[in-house]
Amino acid sequence: MTSRWILLLSAVLVSIFSLHAQDVKEIKLCDKHYSYDVGKDSITLYLKVLDSNGKRVTNISDKDFNNYLVINENGQIIPWSKGQIRPVTTGKRIPSDYTFSVVVDLNIPKEGKEQIYNTVGKLIESAPDSCVYISFFGDAVSKSELVTAENYPSMKAKFMQNASNKYFYGALYSKLVEFSPNTTDIESTINLEEGYQKNPDILKRAQANKDKNILFIFTEGSKSDSYEDIGFIEVTDYQCDTSHGVPRVYAFYYMGNGVDEDVIETLKGVTSPKDTLGASIKDRQGEYMPSNDMNSVLINFQNAINEAMYDYAFTYQALEDSYSGGTDYSVVWKGDEKGKATFSIGSPENPWPVYAESTGDLITKLLVALLTALLTIIFFFIVMKILIPAIKSKAFAAKYYKKYVPEEGVQRRICNYCKQELQPGQMIVAKCKHYMHIHCWKQNDFRCAEYGQNCNSGIQEHIEWNSLFSRSSLRDCHQTITGIIAGLVSWIIFELLGRSGFKAIATAIVNTFYKANEGQVNLYDLCVTKVSAFLLIGLLLGFFLSLAFRYNDEYRKKDWKIYLKILGLSLLSGVIGMAAFAIGACIMCALLPITNTTYLPWYCSLPAYLLFSICVSLSLTIKSSVPVKSAMIGGVCSAIIGFLVLYFSSMTSSRWGWMNMLLDFIIYGGGLGASLVTVRMLAEKYFLVIQNGVKAGQRIPIHKWMNATGGGNKVSIGMTGECEIQMNWEKSNKVAKEHAQLFIDHNKDLPMIKPLATGVIYNMRNELPVGKPSVLANGDTFKIGDTIFQYVESD
Ligand SMILES: [Zn+2]
Ligand SMILES: [Zn+2]
Repeated sequence: MTSRWILLLSAVLVSIFSLHAQDVKEIKLCDKHYSYDVGKDSITLYLKVLDSNGKRVTNISDKDFNNYLVINENGQIIPWSKGQIRPVTTGKRIPSDYTFSVVVDLNIPKEGKEQIYNTVGKLIESAPDSCVYISFFGDAVSKSELVTAENYPSMKAKFMQNASNKYFYGALYSKLVEFSPNTTDIESTINLEEGYQKNPDILKRAQANKDKNILFIFTEGSKSDSYEDIGFIEVTDYQCDTSHGVPRVYAFYYMGNGVDEDVIETLKGVTSPKDTLGASIKDRQGEYMPSNDMNSVLINFQNAINEAMYDYAFTYQALEDSYSGGTDYSVVWKGDEKGKATFSIGSPENPWPVYAESTGDLITKLLVALLTALLTIIFFFIVMKILIPAIKSKAFAAKYYKKYVPEEGVQRRICNYCKQELQPGQMIVAKCKHYMHIHCWKQNDFRCAEYGQNCNSGIQEHIEWNSLFSRSSLRDCHQTITGIIAGLVSWIIFELLGRSGFKAIATAIVNTFYKANEGQVNLYDLCVTKVSAFLLIGLLLGFFLSLAFRYNDEYRKKDWKIYLKILGLSLLSGVIGMAAFAIGACIMCALLPITNTTYLPWYCSLPAYLLFSICVSLSLTIKSSVPVKSAMIGGVCSAIIGFLVLYFSSMTSSRWGWMNMLLDFIIYGGGLGASLVTVRMLAEKYFLVIQNGVKAGQRIPIHKWMNATGGGNKVSIGMTGECEIQMNWEKSNKVAKEHAQLFIDHNKDLPMIKPLATGVIYNMRNELPVGKPSVLANGDTFKIGDTIFQYVESD
């Protein structure tokens, strides 16, 4: 009696134990789904549970899931109160990127075709619309038609057609070639129905998803095939040729009424293609499944589709306020990690979710953006006016401030400022040959007493606390402020246009350059969204930065022609920016299969930003005074800093995901502006190059006399020896004693020419008015007497 109870008890225990000890070896995160639409803030993860034999486990109860399953998002547990898991047994359980082409032999007995019709119906129920295409062969090969749950019943009649012929090879071949853009000569020999056309949607889908294309063929062995030019060799050769795309083939051969050995060989060949060395081509493996029994044919078919399915969908409310890129997931079952994956949710350019915004929200956002721009200006000001001068000053002091050591052969040295004798051990500044006491140096505003006259190197950059907020100091930041404002304007328009544009070009780029690997999570939609954001960024930033900098650069009096030129060249920069981003996008798409990730890694976007920056910076030098070197260095540095801010600040999530893009825009703009000024200042070397006459080609370095940072700042040209440039070569009597003066206008930081007598011809066109200074731009010419001078700036 007791032993019976124990047996019973243990039986119950075993059954309970086995019920709860679900053998879960691996939980695969197959795919994710989220929507870009306003206000829909739920994320769905698709899962497959596998046991230790690699078999799919589909009977896990809700209770077991609740007890044992934990899913983490970025290391944070997603609470069950926010999420829900459901088995995907009905409805759409096949990822929408799969494409199935089903081809049915009309010679299969009527009852068999009826069963196939019903089973294929189940595939159609499980697959999203536009995934399944169907065609038939018998007396001819029919075209592939899209089937949906709606139009499927009307297909039944087509299943029931009879055939007296069987064009098996032609059917198989014509269905294979539908997945590739190439055409072959053999196609014309196939017995196709009247008006047959390849279905272009199949090709489109196949190109977007290289590894998710499947051809199912149902055929039977009783009737031998009708004569065709095409046979076993053509079909299998085509499937084995890796130069074009083909689907994986699953062949269901009904042998109940007979067998054809050639057909078997062909089906084996196309379901398991081999390369020229005889090795199986891994990503083209389908399966050949012959059976005498129609029921097992259908079970085989269902198993084949099941491979493409996922079994569970876990939907949860977004935990973070904003997602902008790689999000890590890990799945834990009974305390052990059973699977993990990283999916891109949103992107730095286009954070998700997109919140519905009221007018009030928009105004707040705009105010925050303005404040951010202002803070960025202050930041740049501090860097340019305090940080960099402080570092340079320190470096200067370390190098040139030293104790005076009497030199050999020199009896005495005096300080060039206070004229007192330097004593050994006194601290002096030894930048130029005009030694000075440090306190004298500082008293003379950190420069040599001779600076500007007999000295052009004795100057120390330092923080000018007294004139920090003076007009000239603010003017140094002028280009930076311009760049930041251009960035801000670009960002506002970027937001207003919904952070994307040029969808058609973006789609075309992704279609052409993005080919996912086998088993790789499909990033197609994400790529399209990102590329379309890229194109818009390129156009806007290119245009507005160019507009702003060119407006500043064009210091001549602006008439409508000049405005038109600025606008035209800015549009050009916009187009160049867009083209650069388009090329960058192609690189990104091409890189993705190499990285083989389930998300978009940040480094795939870097080439696009760099390329954009280089191209736009270079485009700014077209017909402007911006030197190529400064544009390049400034462009690349600020692009990298902006990119780092964009991608690394996007790792922190906040409701203000859009802020990252704003920062990228204004930092890039500001940085480019700052570099255009600073490098230009460093490169200031001015020459007059004589263009004609006996002195043609002579370069006169006028920066000796005029200098943006100080000095005598006057070059006079005329006949007398008082002039810095004495035109003693001139034979004409048209040149005055002092005919013109050149100097730097310190308010505009621009070189000017002031005629003191009549007859100064500017750029060979117009005469400059006497006594009125005019701006000289790099490359301008002026004529005095018979001599033509060209004004040249160089590094
Ligand atoms: Zn002194
Ligand atoms: Zn000096």
